[in-house]
Amino acid sequence: MIPKSKLPLIGTNIFTVMSNYANQHGAVNLSQGFPDYQPSPILIELVSEAMKKGFNQYAPMAGYLLLREEIAKKYENLYGANYDVNDEITITAGGSEAVFSVISSMIHAGDEVIIFEPAFDLYRPIIELFGGIVKPIILKGPDFTINWDEVKKLISPQTKMIVLNNPNNPATTTLKEQDFKILADIVRDSNILLLSDEVYEHIVFDGQPFWSITKFPELKDRTFVVASFGKLFHITGWKVGYVLAPKELTSELRKIHQFNVFCVNAPAQIAIAEFLKRKEEYLHLPQFFQQKRDFLTQGLETTPFKVIKPEGSYFLLADYSEISDLPDNEFAFWLTEKFKVATIPISAFYQESPDQKLVRFCFAKKEETMAKAIENLNKC
Ligand code: GLN
Repeated sequence: MIPKSKLPLIGTNIFTVMSNYANQHGAVNLSQGFPDYQPSPILIELVSEAMKKGFNQYAPMAGYLLLREEIAKKYENLYGANYDVNDEITITAGGSEAVFSVISSMIHAGDEVIIFEPAFDLYRPIIELFGGIVKPIILKGPDFTINWDEVKKLISPQTKMIVLNNPNNPATTTLKEQDFKILADIVRDSNILLLSDEVYEHIVFDGQPFWSITKFPELKDRTFVVASFGKLFHITGWKVGYVLAPKELTSELRKIHQFNVFCVNAPAQIAIAEFLKRKEEYLHLPQFFQQKRDFLTQGLETTPFKVIKPEGSYFLLADYSEISDLPDNEFAFWLTEKFKVATIPISAFYQESPDQKLVRFCFAKKEETMAKAIENLNKC
């Protein structure tokens, strides 16, 4: 039987493909974004304690109150943003379920959604699955600068939502105070919703502040914020994230969330709630990842790759035009086979990619892993 596909243009996502290819060829895997080092042993201890204490059954649908309270405190302390613990915070099965539940609860057939490409790969298919129409703004390297006039022009009476990703994966750029002021001017007097994917929260370099959208009350009132403990605490496999949104929006979101996953891993939530009290565990992330960014950058500078200095996220983009004329997709496979380093081609993040010779490297890796990759790439 050949079913009628709901996503005829979509194959297996690039992260799965490249990680499998890396394994198949025994390559150093700098493609999919996940740490290859252990999270804090305290966190592991906390989760096993939670299991021993009996947190082994369904958690509440919206997440444990304990965890929602700690999240509320964090946003109040860091960004001066108040979220009601009962009605405005929902624990999700990672950032992906969060994005899925937000988009599916808001997008009706014919609604237009503005996204910035290169865009993380799941926004477009989910929007289209629910009959939404994607209106992409195409950003190009090396700067991937947003021209807000272009955004203004793309807005129509059908515009339902604008999707932001800050810090941006894969562009590795960050939004600044000025961007949010312009955005506020653009959406004022409209019913446009915002989805702010902030899963790389804190991971901003060179002493720059992180501008969470929650710092802007005018925008916060129309925004779904998506965040991920996977990135915050180096536990991508635990699949715990959350959504912050005003009460009326949260109420619709939960209608989908409850039938999508119902609830999220109970012992992990209890452990994370306790661990979130240790502010230094996330406040040191800029420093922690900047060291890794600089290690990989300096290493790549000894190869023919040209690094675009990332402002945020745990990825960096590098130009390979001195090595090859191949399109980025073919180049990524070739590099994995011949030089045993797996990366992600940036064209995977566009519907129609401009001609750019860029691949994405993940530096959430041990120094020894990155050193091995650099050694291999020095043979290029
Ligand atoms: N966010 C990770 C990345 O960009 C991967 C997520 C996934 O594999 N779905 O590499």
